Amino acid sequence: MDTSYRLPTQVLKALAHPARLKILNALRDDEECVCHLTALLRQRQAYVSQQLMFLRQAGLIEDRKDGLRVYYRIKDPRVFDVLNVVNALVGEKDGIAEHQVLATCPCPRCEKHGQRVGGRQWKSKSLVRVAPTA
Ligand SMILES: [Zn+2]
Repeated sequence: MDTSYRLPTQVLKALAHPARLKILNALRDDEECVCHLTALLRQRQAYVSQQLMFLRQAGLIEDRKDGLRVYYRIKDPRVFDVLNVVNALVGEKDGIAEHQVLATCPCPRCEKHGQRVGGRQWKSKSLVRVAPTA
C-alpha cells in the first residue's frame, strides 16, 4: 500500500472513536489530568489510559507528569479545525471548551471550583459547568 497514506490514516483512526472524541473535546480549553478524564468518561482508568495512548501515538496529545498526576494536553490545536468541520458536516455543535467541574473527580481543578462554587462537599453527582479561570 502507498505509505504516504499511513500517517493521515492513523490520525483519522484515532479520531474515529466516541471516547477519544470526548477526551479531545475535554482538552479544548486546557490540559486535564487522567483522573479528571476518567471521571468525565465514567470508565475504568485502564480503559481511559488505553484511549489516551491511542491519541498520543497518533501525535494528537502529549503528557506531563506533576507528582503522582499525569496531565494530557493537545499537541496541535488545528485538530479542532478537523473536528469542527466534521461537526458542521453532521450538524453537531462543537464541543464544550470550558473545564467541566465533576463532583466525582479528585483533581485539583475540580476541588478548587467545588469549594468556590459550593463552599461545601458535594453530594450530588450532577455535572456543573463553570467559566474557565482566566
Ligand atoms: Zn477534575
